[in-house]
Formats: sequence, C-alpha cells, structure tokens
Amino acid sequence: MMIAVYILSGLVGLCVGSFLNVVIYRVPEGMSIVKPASHCPKCGYVLKWYDNIPILSYLILGGKCRSCRQHISFRYTLVEILNMLLWLVCVWRFWDWSAFGIVYACLMMAACSLLVCIAFIDLEHKIILERFQISLFVIAVAAVFFDRETVWWEKLIGMGVNGALFLIFFYVGRLIRKRDVLGGGDVKLAVTMGLLLGWKNLLLAMLIATIVGSIVLTAIRLIKKHGKDMEYPFAPFLVLGTLVGLLFGTPIVNAYVGWLMAL
Ligand SMILES: [Zn+2]
Repeated sequence: MMIAVYILSGLVGLCVGSFLNVVIYRVPEGMSIVKPASHCPKCGYVLKWYDNIPILSYLILGGKCRSCRQHISFRYTLVEILNMLLWLVCVWRFWDWSAFGIVYACLMMAACSLLVCIAFIDLEHKIILERFQISLFVIAVAAVFFDRETVWWEKLIGMGVNGALFLIFFYVGRLIRKRDVLGGGDVKLAVTMGLLLGWKNLLLAMLIATIVGSIVLTAIRLIKKHGKDMEYPFAPFLVLGTLVGLLFGTPIVNAYVGWLMAL
C-alpha cells in the first residue's frame, strides 16, 4: 500500500510542479492561469498535450521548442522535479495511516509547493505576492493542530521571536542605510516561518538561510561587481531554510541535542 502512495504522490507532485510553472510565470504578470493555453514564449506555438508531459517532453524535445527549436529554460523541469521530490519527502516523513498523519502530510505538501512558488517568483520579480503569504499562513495555522513533533507554544514563540527580529532588522536597516534592506514581504514570511517551524527548527532554518544567503549574495556581488545599493531577493534563502527545517528539522535538532548530551 505504501508503494502506491509513493507512486501516486510522485506523479501528482510532478503534475502539480508543472502547474506551479504556469503560476510562477503568469500570476506576477496578472495573467489568467487557465487562458490562453501554454505556448512557446518565443514563437507562440501552442503546446499539444504530448509537449506538456513533465520531464519526458523536455527530454524528448531536447530542451527545445518543437516549432522554432529555441532553447526552453531548464527552470520548468527543475520546478517539476523539485516539487516531486519535496512531496515524496513529505510522504516519507509524515505519512501514516491515521487521519493526523495524512492531513499533516498533505498540509506540508501544499506548504512546500507554495514555498517553491514564493522562491521562484521572488527570484525573478523581487516580490512576494500577498495571496501566497496568506495561503501559507493559513496552512501554518492549520498545521498547528496536526503537528505531532512540535507543540503549539513552541510555534507561537517561533512566530513572535522571528517576527520581532525581522521588524527590528527592517527598521534599523532603514535608519542606517536610508533604504529598505529587507522587504516588507520578508518580514511577513518570517512570521509564518516561525509558526510553521517552532523555535527549535526555526533556529536551524535561519542559520541555513543566513549562511547560504550571505555566501551566495556576496559571491554574486563580487562577480558581477554590483554597488552597495543593489537589491537582492532574500526569500529564496528563507524558503531554503524553511524547507530544510520543515522536512528535516526535528531529526537534525534531536541528533544535535543527543550529541551535545553525549559530550
Ligand atoms: Zn517556439
């Protein structure tokens, strides 16, 4: 039975990943997600169903448009694979045959998919759309009742502390630099992160986000020779930290605490 759950969630995860591509591409532009049908951005060729099969079509067409042979961004396939993997990990970590396990696994799948959208849209448009923030927050609230690893007050502490920290950063940064060093969207995302993760996993998530973020952004600044006032998207790093914290936080934190105790 478990194998069937894995196969099904992998396949559905792929298809949802394919849909996330449409969302990432169209929603920030204010376009409808149902019309017009998917088409090549270069020549306008309307994709047939067999051009639209996750991963397979990309491989068969060699990453090129069937009509104009122009290169298609690997990002589309990346999002599909990423979403599938995240869903599989959700099943592996949280699924059991109880109502709690099933509901929590599904909530986490939805959270992962939303986080993927938030990261890729921020990467391209430097914006976190309100509807994604609200949806993620609603999922975080619902998850409080189904999470068996992190208790509700740990989540409330995480939410309060992270929200306060980011607000302080937001205003102090604005005072010192005379511009916004953090987006308002980052502050809201930080609040939801705290509620989703609880303070322990949040610590891990913030550690990952800040370390990876500062290494990558410093490297980009040096390579591209950007000035000090260049703005970079920070949500992708927050999302990375949140995903690790959400899916692997509890085992990592427990292993670390166990290691400390053994010293
Ligand atoms: Zn084309």
